[in-house]
Amino acid sequence: MNVILMGPPGCGKGTQANELVAARGLAHVSTGNILRAAVRAGNELGRKVASILDAGELVPDELMSEVLREALEAVPADRGWLLDGYPRTAPQAESLIGLLEGLDQGVDAVVSIRVPDEEIVARLAGRLTCPACGFVAAGAGGGGPAECPRCGHEMGVRDDDRPETVRNRLRVFREKTAPAEEILARRYPLKPVDGTGSPEEVSRKVALVLAD
Ligand code: AMP
Repeated sequence: MNVILMGPPGCGKGTQANELVAARGLAHVSTGNILRAAVRAGNELGRKVASILDAGELVPDELMSEVLREALEAVPADRGWLLDGYPRTAPQAESLIGLLEGLDQGVDAVVSIRVPDEEIVARLAGRLTCPACGFVAAGAGGGGPAECPRCGHEMGVRDDDRPETVRNRLRVFREKTAPAEEILARRYPLKPVDGTGSPEEVSRKVALVLAD
């Protein structure tokens, strides 16, 4: 099964991605995780993108299409994948469709998680992320885990989860990423999911649309 997971920053995409990957044995292709790992490693890609990520802007399409091609080609042919964080723009959507055609691969579902903006700003302000494995938890203001429940690394607040950056990421999402979703929807089955409610409730809704 190949799935594309779409939704604004803070909609619970990362949490749902982790769930789906664990439940269905899919390869997790997260462009955000790939870019953050490159920044941490301080490699050529990381040096190119560090300030873009900090500002909540988008990495140029050409560079991203290379990153994506490498990541998808690294998935063994007999394994399904979950794509998370790509496409973010209309040209990325077109380039993904072309890449998948070339690889002779289809997409079973484009799952689009929807959450109102006000809820997103409130959620992200309180979000903790593991810098090592990408695990996400609530409770940045207190009450959240100090260490990652999955890998044990110290949890932290992502630089791009600052309120002014969050607002920029939401603006970028509306202007650039919403059109990408429309392009995908013309080609693959679009499955909108209401992302309000607990992560477990949202997981159940995601499982329901995937069973369709
Ligand atoms: P994410 O973890 O998916 O929210 O991604 C974090 C940041 O990485 C974004 O705010 C962008 O700066 C960058 N990024 C991730 N995926 C893409 C993409 N497909 N195109 C451009 N920039 C991206």
